[in-house]
Order: sequence, then structure tokens, then C-alpha cells
Amino acid sequence: MDTTAHTPQGKLIIFSAPSGSGKTTLVHHLLTQKELGLAFSISATSRPARGEEVNGKDYYFLSEEAFKQRVFNGDFLEWEEVYSGTLYGTLRSEVERIWAEGKTVIFDMDVVGGLNLKSLYGDKALAVFVKPPSMEVLEERLRGRATDSDDKIRQRLAKARKELGRADRFDHILLNKDLDTAKQEATQLVKLFLGK
Ligand code: 5GP
Repeated sequence: MDTTAHTPQGKLIIFSAPSGSGKTTLVHHLLTQKELGLAFSISATSRPARGEEVNGKDYYFLSEEAFKQRVFNGDFLEWEEVYSGTLYGTLRSEVERIWAEGKTVIFDMDVVGGLNLKSLYGDKALAVFVKPPSMEVLEERLRGRATDSDDKIRQRLAKARKELGRADRFDHILLNKDLDTAKQEATQLVKLFLGK
């Protein structure tokens, strides 16, 4: 029996961007503003934890086998092989849990996943594309992170080029040139969407 069928649907806020565009920083900034009533949808991934990441906070870190079992069980709203051999997905249970608390779900998600969720939820979802000022700045940011190998950085840059081409399918494009300005704009967008 599907016990989640009666949870009333709430709203969703999707922040998508090429990796290194600053979307995670913007999402964290929004989450610090308690009056917005947002809660982060913790994704599942088959990649290992990086740096300070914590299981059950940043991601649910699953083995590839466990991830695939959950795909088979139908536990994901969407999932994707974002990078070759690395799976990421949104658990249905995360969204249901957050809506049951009366909160709005916020996602930090790659571009294809973000557009998939937007097409599932339509007007209930605000889809924001975070745009880096240039490919050069993006590369600098990725290298500055120093957590990924050269090969991983190359993969991320190749993906970013494709993703930039999909920006205009989002409800809004937010240019992240100056972080403070981008933070303010993100807050305004969310307030407007939620009528706050
Ligand atoms: P990272 O490995 O840098 O944390 O994430 C890689 C990419 O996967 C990022 O663009 C991130 O937003 C995306 N991602 C994280 N969670 C999900 C998810 O649940 N679904 C999809 N489709 N992409 C995700």
C-alpha cells in the first residue's frame, strides 16, 4: 500500500547549475532564513563523501548496489547518472517528509534533474538556473575547490558547457557574478514565489 498518497502536495524550489556555479552556497543561504520555511531535500548518491560532507546531511551515501536496489523498488522521484559511473537521485520519501512538516522543499540539483522535476510539478515548482559569469571563472572555482582530480574537473567542465545551453528552459536565470547580490536576488525570487 502506498502510505504517502494522502500527504498534501506543497511547493518546490529547484536550484540547478553547472557544478561550481555557487548554487550550493545560495541554497545554504536560503536555508538560514527560517521565515522562508524551506527544508533541503537530501539526495542519494553512489559517490563517496568529499571533505567535510556528512552522511544523512549533505547526501545519503549509498553503494552502487544499494542505489540500484532503491531504483528497482521505485523509491526515486528522479535519478540520473550525472557523471559516468556516479548516480544521484531524489528520494520520494524526502519530499513527502518535508511536505508533511508543512515546509517547502528546496533542491540542489543538476540541470537535467532540475528540468525533470519542473516538468513533473509544473506551477508548484520554481526552477532557477544559477549562471556563472564565464567558463573561465567556473574553471577557477572548480580548481580552487581542490577536492576533485584533473580528470573529474574536465568532466565537470564538459558537462557545464552543455548545461549552459539549457538555461533558458528555467523559470529564472540568476547570474552569480557577485555572491552578495546573487544571495539577495535568490531571497527575493523565493519570497515572490511563496507570496511572503
Ligand atoms: P556533486 O558531486 O558536486 O555534489 O554533485 C554533482 C551534481 O549532481 C551537481 O550538479 C548536483 O547538483 C547534482 N545532484 C545532486 N543531487 C542530485 C539529485 O538528486 N538528482 C540529480 N539529478 N542530480 C543531483
